Amino acid sequence: MFAASNPDLFVAQVTIGGLALVALWRFIVWIRDAPRTPDPWDAEFEQKIQDPALPETCHHCSTPQPPGAWFCSHCGNAVGPYNNLMPYLHVFSEGEVLRNGVTGRFQNRWLIATGFFLMTLGVYPLFAPVYLLLLLSHLKRSHRNAAASGDEPLP
Ligand SMILES: [Zn+2]
Repeated sequence: MFAASNPDLFVAQVTIGGLALVALWRFIVWIRDAPRTPDPWDAEFEQKIQDPALPETCHHCSTPQPPGAWFCSHCGNAVGPYNNLMPYLHVFSEGEVLRNGVTGRFQNRWLIATGFFLMTLGVYPLFAPVYLLLLLSHLKRSHRNAAASGDEPLP
């Protein structure tokens, strides 16, 4: 990595490495010092959702799920507690996330769109060009619909 043949190149590499470390440290400090937001609900609701007798529900359609369910019987989304850790089942969770990117069930923010972009390139690079075209088409449509309805597009 460090080429000693050219001293200017070595100094540039050390400088870039130092700047990257400073940027990483500033990012860690920014996360650490970020203000903590309070829960949006009161103590009574917090107690209700922490009740172990309360059945788990689907995060997509709120249908109660039986214990040990891996997929919602109503909408088919992955709902199991360890789906993202199982080698076979996590493919369905990834598919659900990527499907949400082109069907509009997410908040249209640049950070989320960047996440879809990076996830596609990292997980399914062969299909990335097609997916990215669909994602960009959806983002354009979403901005157009927000502008037509008078809503402010999210940053
Ligand atoms: Zn469901």
